[in-house]
Amino acid sequence: MSAINANELLAMYILAVVLFILALRFMSDIKSSKYGNWSASLGMLVAVVATLLAYTIHQTDYLVGALAVGLILGTPIALRVPTTALPQRTAMSQAFGSLAVALVGVAEYHVDLPHVPAFTMAVLATEMTLGFLTFAGSCIAFGKLQELIPGRPFVYPGKNFVSLAILAVAIAAAVYLVAFPTQGIALYVLAAFALIFGFLLVMGIGGADMPTVIAILNSYTGMSAAALGFVLNNKILIVAGSLDGSSGFVLAVIMSQAMNRSFTNVLFGGVGAKKVEKGAGPTGAKEARPVQSYSPEDVATILENATKVVIVPGYGMAVAQAQHTVKELSDILQEKGVDVKFGIHPVAGRMPGHMNVLLAEAQVPYEQLWEMERINPEFPNTDVVIVVGANDVTNPAARTRPESPLYGMPIMNVDKARTVIFVKRSMNPGFSGADNELFYLPNTWMVFGDAKKVLSDLVADLKAD
Ligand code: NDP
Repeated sequence: MSAINANELLAMYILAVVLFILALRFMSDIKSSKYGNWSASLGMLVAVVATLLAYTIHQTDYLVGALAVGLILGTPIALRVPTTALPQRTAMSQAFGSLAVALVGVAEYHVDLPHVPAFTMAVLATEMTLGFLTFAGSCIAFGKLQELIPGRPFVYPGKNFVSLAILAVAIAAAVYLVAFPTQGIALYVLAAFALIFGFLLVMGIGGADMPTVIAILNSYTGMSAAALGFVLNNKILIVAGSLDGSSGFVLAVIMSQAMNRSFTNVLFGGVGAKKVEKGAGPTGAKEARPVQSYSPEDVATILENATKVVIVPGYGMAVAQAQHTVKELSDILQEKGVDVKFGIHPVAGRMPGHMNVLLAEAQVPYEQLWEMERINPEFPNTDVVIVVGANDVTNPAARTRPESPLYGMPIMNVDKARTVIFVKRSMNPGFSGADNELFYLPNTWMVFGDAKKVLSDLVADLKAD
């Protein structure tokens, strides 16, 4: 006997769906994003409670055991994982989600045997293929982000042909299952080849592209959950899976557009295969043209005379964990009457919202964060731009050099400011591997060193003045 009737179940599911949609709405703005988290969590709680109340549960011990394992593993992960490790945490939860969807599909297949209707079998085969490939892909994404396996793309001659041939075998097994559902062996062939395909697909992609890959895989998980919802006739699974699938897809599209790259380029392009030579410093043999190298003390002098300053953070700020020092610099400049803004590029760093998360952690007020479209017209009236560990997102080659991998990518027009200060460790390029013309311009000052160290010295100099 179930505790609620069909109408009550439907009402609770509608409430859950409204909460999920509100969550997406809230998450589209930094200020309301935390309510998005609350709304999504509440929606999930309502959906789970409604499902438990609607069905007669025969084996409570399994259910309690699963809940206990989830709580024991999930709570410390949620509380302890640092914000910098959020991409790999997302990859891990996605791996679990897709594995769950795939395994429920396997169980449903066995429950339905020997009479599995062709439509049900086709949907099950699709969702199991997506589920298993996403599971393997997400595990590899986790390994690359956590640096357990090398981040460089694993490339070999005929890589794309081999991968597509493996996918073709999985699809052939799926078609065979639809025609002959009782031939269970085909299900294991499908699972094995989908796993190998997911493994090879993500092994072939560079570590820095993992956030985009995770968004794409996330959309696969959503689609497979929605497909499972049709088989199980579960409306909440269909709606939540579709929301997950479409939002993951939209995010992947936004990220690809912001990097001026296509999906196929992310999935098959192997960006990062070329190993960047480390250690070529300001006086290293690599660069032929001279650059102007300054000390934090010199920078303190120019800042003393500035009235408008824009700080442009990038991946290097995350590596150096310099966000608190950046905030300290902003505070001390503001105390001296300087107008300080932060210019945020949509793909600065290595995950969507990377800079926003770090600056929020350092308690930089939202009002100081200016998105690219809003800050770009400000640069011609800016005295000093301090670029903290950003590179590609400032590279003017995106506007001027059609042969550059960055060409067409919208950038921060920092070169329009009166003086540009680059804080980075060497002349090494950024993620794209492209040299930055800006380093050699007369109004650019290079300050070589770890961002946290350079900015701490700068703050100390400013305090001493
Ligand atoms: P980049 O990778 O272009 O440049 C980062 C710079 O930081 C490097 O040139 C590096 O130079 C410097 N750096 C590294 N460590 C330190 C340190 N400890 N102290 C000081 N500087 C340091 O980063 P951007 O943020 O400018 O651009 C992001 C790139 O990543 C774009 O190409 C984007 O397309 C790509 N991307 C972004 C994703 C996202 O979702 N945000 C997802 C996937 C890719 P040096 O070694 O000399 O110190």
